[in-house]
Amino acid sequence: MSDCARGQGTLIVVTGPSGAGKGTVLGRALPALPHIHYSISATTRKPRPGEVDGKSYYFLTHEQFRAMIDGGELLEYAEYVGNYYGTPAKAVESELARGNDVILEIEVQGALMVKSKRPDAVLVFIIPPRFSMLQERLHNRGSEPDDVIAQRVEKARQEYKSGDKYDYIVVNDNLEDAVRELSAIIISQRCRTEKRMDLLTY
Ligand code: ADP
Ligand code: 5GP
Repeated sequence: MSDCARGQGTLIVVTGPSGAGKGTVLGRALPALPHIHYSISATTRKPRPGEVDGKSYYFLTHEQFRAMIDGGELLEYAEYVGNYYGTPAKAVESELARGNDVILEIEVQGALMVKSKRPDAVLVFIIPPRFSMLQERLHNRGSEPDDVIAQRVEKARQEYKSGDKYDYIVVNDNLEDAVRELSAIIISQRCRTEKRMDLLTY
């Protein structure tokens, strides 16, 4: 991929109902894409087995999270099934200024807040081919008890209602196809004319 004339990076917001496969698709797509920064969110949720503080999330107490809100340190934040999640603004701004694309993996309310603050953000919705597959995948993942899975599926029903506000929909049926679709969306933003205006000198 051309590395010349990188201006501001693109802010790419990836949302999908719990169990859609966001983590899995991003985990495959991002390592193959240069100049990309994955934003690490802050959350009051407890870590799942294998999750690492500062890598998966910044795991905070409610008091610490509240201090970030009060200090104006979050680009957006939302409450999701009993916990708070938010995007630290500083790293996003500095990575974009360095010409790197920034990926936010966040839920719908936060995504729409970002779009209202930054209309140039590109919103991508990841879903399985059938709604019923969410419960199936969450059950197979085994990271939440059945009552939390039920809450997440109920939340997904609401999230689908905002799907039409997104710029792109990636279908995660076959994993490789979904990775290709997401990568194509990210790469195509880099080819937009406004990102390459400085190449039009002669
Ligand atoms: P999310 O981050 O959206 O909550 P995950 O990436 O954790 O979802 O995926 C949820 C579960 O579905 C995981 O167990 C994952 O291995 C599985 N999964 C992800 N993509 C696929 C796929 N294309 N086909 C079948 N299972 C998948
Ligand atoms: P999980 O608990 O499964 O890691 O995440 C629950 C939901 O919170 C997912 O939809 C995830 O995308 C979303 N999320 C993660 N980080 C953020 C964030 O910084 N802001 C918002 N608004 N949502 C987030």
